[in-house]
Amino acid sequence: MTEHTKTDGLPGMDMPVHANGEGHSLAKPVKIECNACPVLCQISDGRTGACDRYANRAGVLVRVDPVVVLRRELSSASPALVAFDRPGAEADNSQRVDPEWNGDLLHSDEVFVTGVGSSTTYPDYKPAPFIVASKARGVDMVTVVTEGIFSYCSLKVKIDTDRFLGAEQANVRYRGEAVGHVTTAEYGSQMLSLGGVHHLTGGSKKEGRMTVELMQLLGNKKPAECTIDGGASMVIQAGKAPIVNGVEEQRMRVGCGSAAVGIFARQFASVADEVVVVDDHITGVLTEHQAGKCLDMPRSGVQMRGRKSTPGRYFQVANPGNGWGGTDIDEPLSIIEGWEEGVAKPGLRLLMTSTTGEHAQWYVLDEALQPVEQPMPTEVRRIVERIGENCEPSLCTVLFLGGAGGSLRAGVTENPVLLTRAIKRALVNVTCGGAPAYVWPGGGITVMADVMRMPGNSFGTVPTPAIVAPIEFSMRRDDYAALGGHMDSILSLEQALSRGAWQDDGAPLARQWLAIDDANPWPLGQPPMLG
Ligand code: SF4
Repeated sequence: MTEHTKTDGLPGMDMPVHANGEGHSLAKPVKIECNACPVLCQISDGRTGACDRYANRAGVLVRVDPVVVLRRELSSASPALVAFDRPGAEADNSQRVDPEWNGDLLHSDEVFVTGVGSSTTYPDYKPAPFIVASKARGVDMVTVVTEGIFSYCSLKVKIDTDRFLGAEQANVRYRGEAVGHVTTAEYGSQMLSLGGVHHLTGGSKKEGRMTVELMQLLGNKKPAECTIDGGASMVIQAGKAPIVNGVEEQRMRVGCGSAAVGIFARQFASVADEVVVVDDHITGVLTEHQAGKCLDMPRSGVQMRGRKSTPGRYFQVANPGNGWGGTDIDEPLSIIEGWEEGVAKPGLRLLMTSTTGEHAQWYVLDEALQPVEQPMPTEVRRIVERIGENCEPSLCTVLFLGGAGGSLRAGVTENPVLLTRAIKRALVNVTCGGAPAYVWPGGGITVMADVMRMPGNSFGTVPTPAIVAPIEFSMRRDDYAALGGHMDSILSLEQALSRGAWQDDGAPLARQWLAIDDANPWPLGQPPMLG
């Protein structure tokens, strides 16, 4: 999508008819204005607005996609289930809809209206699109539901791989534009920080557009190809293995080199005289390591390159790369400087392995104390295979991080700081599309949610540019009143399901029923909210 390609008028052109119920005209409108976000698209009949979420249908502004309503599974023996079919979403077995359920509101505590497809209200002081009453364990509850428009948002991407993707702080590019950077590596994973207000607003228009495009793709669990300056090209997709320089990653390391030595030391000691676990960060050397000492292994006399940290643990044995253990080496012996005379003995058996067991070689020292590669004995191979067995599958994890501590709060309460305080006191449960959201400590309402636990196609964009993402605030009804909530705008569940808050033309609300993801707790049932 490029800016305004889907809409055919900019604010100020023609005489728009406001389509939010505040100015219907009897004359056939040429265009109608969508005021659900600051873009204020002027939309002709039969066309959609710039975000593809709203359309002009015979002079009426309609929402194009349905609001997603979650339902708790009533029994595991539910009638025939059909695959999740949100438009554009891939079939996902964790998200299914029961076609036999007719919306029986006696089960209203089993139903949760999500922000996905719920619409936005603008300007901010207007109450959120849905403020829904419900009951949970007999307690009167209210859920404030909206699609937030997030200018302050990013994705934190964890890529399970030892391979060198790029130096920390290097730019990550999507379609040539800088959209984020490599951030601090974590245990067995390289981390990216993508998006954010700097790329959305601080660069060129193209940079902003590419940033939201990438964020929307990844948030919606679609693949996207990125490059890192001075590093790798990758295909990232939430819940799937990363593809680095055209190669699909398989294994996430069992641990660093030192950890691998510690884990398997007893097994190694029974078959080898020395084991070196090659790692870009901490290479482990068994007989020097405390694990080898505790097993009374004599020193082998191996002399390693790199910087010794503590006994049996070496940093910087090589440069980062796509070789053994995330280093740039293909020849493991290159990290061995020599063998200490009088200590090393001919016939010494040496295993060198990577942290995933994908690379492993077996050597025996000859009379000149030179390691000579030999076929790996079965009992050694078995341990190397066990390293691989203990590796988890390599995955990409995508967390959405959004700042909801700004104007969005005005759709919840007339006194926004009370919402912030109530969240910090755990009186309000924050969810994103029904998925649990971690709320960062400190000021503001900075939430983080795993996109894999959200319904498919939860994310959209508007050309300001910004990301559209669902967010729900659930609390006791009396707490909502206490924080100055929009009590007059509370809808019963029945009312909420029969129309959208902004949709006053009498047309039924398009909705889509999904069973909640098994991994998610029920959004209305979280203590201490319910005491
Ligand atoms: S971009 Fe904004 S104004 Fe345009 S259709 Fe979408 S929500 Fe409405």
